[in-house]
Amino acid sequence: GGGGKKEEKGRNIQVVVRCRPFNITERKSASCGVVDCDQNKKEVAVRSGGVTDKLARKTYTFDMVFGPSAKQIEVYRSVVCPILDEVIMGYNCTVFAYGQTGTGKTFTMEGERSPNEEYTWEEDPLAGIIPRTLHQIFEKLSGSGTEFSIKVSLLEIYNEELFDLLSPSPDVTERLQLYDDPRNKRGVIIKGLEEITVHNKNEVYQILERGAAKRKTASTLMNAYSSRSHSVFSVTIHMKEVTLDGEELVKMGKLNLVDLAGSENIGRSGAVDKRAREAGNINQSLLTLGRVITALVERRPHVPYRESKLTRILQDSLGGRTKTSIIATVSPASINLEETLSTLDYASRAK
Ligand code: ADP
Ligand code: MG
Repeated sequence: GGGGKKEEKGRNIQVVVRCRPFNITERKSASCGVVDCDQNKKEVAVRSGGVTDKLARKTYTFDMVFGPSAKQIEVYRSVVCPILDEVIMGYNCTVFAYGQTGTGKTFTMEGERSPNEEYTWEEDPLAGIIPRTLHQIFEKLSGSGTEFSIKVSLLEIYNEELFDLLSPSPDVTERLQLYDDPRNKRGVIIKGLEEITVHNKNEVYQILERGAAKRKTASTLMNAYSSRSHSVFSVTIHMKEVTLDGEELVKMGKLNLVDLAGSENIGRSGAVDKRAREAGNINQSLLTLGRVITALVERRPHVPYRESKLTRILQDSLGGRTKTSIIATVSPASINLEETLSTLDYASRAK
């Protein structure tokens, strides 16, 4: 029945919102706060009327809502912990950060380092989802009796071309080719993608730093790289357990942590904004992702995975027996109102 369908939906795709604190520019511009987050009711209320219509509010409900004072650890515990448990059971899962540039996608996915080297990377309260996840995988699996190996890759999509941020090559403009995997209907082969085995948690940070250095170079070479590119960090865990009757149980799980391009070139309707189209700035991967998610939520027979690089790469981790979380990030300030409403509308459609 309809209830069952709804229940199942809730299990597979989860949508949460995170609103960051005011920044200096917003404070200086005397922009007022238009976003109210109610963490308990899981509601976001946006004051959408103009000055003459102070009471016009639009209220959205999500699976979870994090206000400006929510800490990195809270977001990690509530959103990622349950997903990581699925991955360790042998499923493929994905966490996306979606939102306007400057609203905290990278802060949420990667996080930052506190100043003055006050903390080690794994204890830093500002650490985001990626370092926390890798640290937790080692904590959970070491000494659990499960033999395991962990591999990571970091690829970025800019203008529908693929770049390997962990490649040993110094040339960051080298493109990767994508092929269908003849042995796996839902899989692709990314030829030459560097997959690095992480032997212990001490190696994690230097791998992340390596990716960050390459990204810095890429952003000097490609126009608006950081706002137009999608970053896909994937962790693959191979596990081997011996059951009580001496049987070997082999499992593989994958977690994709995706920092999406800025949502500002997608209009309210989910179509390409006219200005963006005129500027030749159509983000095929971001548009197709929206359509793929809509098709999955509405259980349509055809899901257009093949229409963008991002959705082709993630095909084995979206739909079917997978779990997906979308973290929609927004600014609290009135100067970003239009983009905030646009983000919340997009996020609502994914519920
Ligand atoms: P995006 O990746 O969406 O473009 P960033 O993650 O780079 O945005 O965030 C923009 C700025 O806002 C950064 O300086 C970041 O430190 C700050 N910021 C974002 N989210 C938060 C938050 N929840 N708490 C504190 N600062 C934040
Ligand atoms: Mg960013």
